[in-house]
Amino acid sequence: MKAAKIYGAKDIRVEEAEIPVLENGMVKVKVEYAGICGSDMHEYLAGTYPMRTQPVLGHEFSGVVVEVGEGVTNAKVGDRVAVEPLIPCGKCDNCQRGFVNLCTERQGYGYTVSGGFAQFAVVKEENIFHLPENMSLELGALVEPTAVAVHAVRQSQLKLGDTAAIFGAGPIGLLLLQAVKAAGASEVFIVEVSEERRQKALELGATHVINPIGTDAVAFIREQTNGGVNVAFDAAGVQTNPLK
Ligand SMILES: [Zn+2]
Ligand SMILES: [Zn+2]
Repeated sequence: MKAAKIYGAKDIRVEEAEIPVLENGMVKVKVEYAGICGSDMHEYLAGTYPMRTQPVLGHEFSGVVVEVGEGVTNAKVGDRVAVEPLIPCGKCDNCQRGFVNLCTERQGYGYTVSGGFAQFAVVKEENIFHLPENMSLELGALVEPTAVAVHAVRQSQLKLGDTAAIFGAGPIGLLLLQAVKAAGASEVFIVEVSEERRQKALELGATHVINPIGTDAVAFIREQTNGGVNVAFDAAGVQTNPLK
């Protein structure tokens, strides 16, 4: 199969790769769509992460099941699925406490196991999620980043009617916007430097958009909310320019 492999900073090559072996309890997925994550960009710009043990990228992807291994009960050929990229060990302290996302021994498709920037991925049965009939495979590739946003909103304990601020309106910020609205946020402030992204945020229901270049975002939000929002999310991850 063809796969996109990362060798280092600014060095990704589309090459031939072996299709991983279909073991018991696993399914082979023909990849249809795969998203480029911010972390893929980091690796592309700055070099690979220490946790990477193989080169095939891609951890936000969807596709169609083309083969099932022995013992698989929850999938059949033709199923449309999204893939959960995290493979927790199930044994470490964090896993035992239910925090599988913080597993200290975690493996992952696109990092330690061949990922979704390839024609095929072989994944554990428990890592697939069936897409509803009315959801396209294209949207299926957004299930993973959407789960990130939904988890963040749950962690924030935002309540019906609360106000929220989101710093950064890239894909994660825009998904957070939709998640806080679904959770019942009354007012949502988006802080974003890009005009295009601010427009998209308005389209998706932001009540206020702020360009932090030229406006003191924190002062503006405090003024509009009588002291501050109930919850705030950092989806930008940038430092203030130390030279300013
Ligand atoms: Zn990601
Ligand atoms: Zn674990």
